[in-house]
Amino acid sequence: MIDWGEVVRRLVLNGARYTGLAPLLRSRYGGIGAILMLHRVTAAPRKRLGINRHLAITPEFLDALLTDLRSMGYRFVSMDETADRIVAGKCGERFISLTADDAYRDNLIEALPVLEKHEAPITIYVSPGLTSGDVDLWWDVLEDVVTARDEIYLTTAQGRMYVDCSTAARKDEANRTLHNYLTEEIREEDRQPLLRDMARLAGVDHSQPGRETLMTWDEVRQAGAHPLVTIGAHTTCHYNLRRLSDQNAWQEIVDAGRIIEVETGVKPQHMAYPYGYERAVGDREVALAAAAGFRTAVTTRHGVLLPEHAAHMQALPRISVNGRYQRLAHMRTMLTGITTPLANRGKTLVTT
Ligand SMILES: [Zn+2]
Repeated sequence: MIDWGEVVRRLVLNGARYTGLAPLLRSRYGGIGAILMLHRVTAAPRKRLGINRHLAITPEFLDALLTDLRSMGYRFVSMDETADRIVAGKCGERFISLTADDAYRDNLIEALPVLEKHEAPITIYVSPGLTSGDVDLWWDVLEDVVTARDEIYLTTAQGRMYVDCSTAARKDEANRTLHNYLTEEIREEDRQPLLRDMARLAGVDHSQPGRETLMTWDEVRQAGAHPLVTIGAHTTCHYNLRRLSDQNAWQEIVDAGRIIEVETGVKPQHMAYPYGYERAVGDREVALAAAAGFRTAVTTRHGVLLPEHAAHMQALPRISVNGRYQRLAHMRTMLTGITTPLANRGKTLVTT
């Protein structure tokens, strides 16, 4: 959900764009392929503060991107084939695997026709709590609350917290402050009850964002029946696993697989960690995903795939197709692999 060093990336993307070194860089750093990460694909995202606008791209951009990737010689493969290719470790034809987190309805309605046109498989990672509506799309609820209120008071362990939401700029700041508070300062399990209280006081419907934008189980089944779609697991309640006890983290991973199997009839082989950044996925989570039997698990760490990932199948990095940079040049630069070490303190083999 949160992006890595955006400033660094912007600098790199703008710099590398003009170098003309892309083919050279790609042969040095490009690896064997890449997993792309999408969230929403829609021409009409909900109007909000725009904090999460990086999570949405348009179907037109997806179409242009896939056309561009094909012209560069990339082959589109499923996560099953991605796993096979990593294990085989061949460096021939490079591949792209598309993935989408959270199972937004627009994946089915707006993205799938584009994917059909390009015969590009996609893996959609379903979080059963989100899909059933038991778990709120909390970051959207937070934006709605901040949009609705001029000021917010919270009782915290440190005392009373006042958040000014009176102007557009303040709302932006307030959203960031509260986002940090809700992800870092309180227990994962306490976030939803607290936000539901805040929503009630603000006259905001906490279930509306999920209801409006996420697939139902019927739609997940419909998506899963499509030959281009693989349904993966995204944990039950979309918690930051690293902040949970051993037992709860294990349960989150295992139960999601079981529920998806019951709902769709197919046991998911692939998993995406919620949030997926360093503070949300570590060695313990990787070991749990492997023990739960997932053939692959993806993070949101930035990077291309190398043959060495065969020893790290439950810690695969991705490249975010980011709504803020809907430019083919940016995607090309990232796929050269040059941004992989730049985003990872010099490392080219990115795991957790
Ligand atoms: Zn997610």
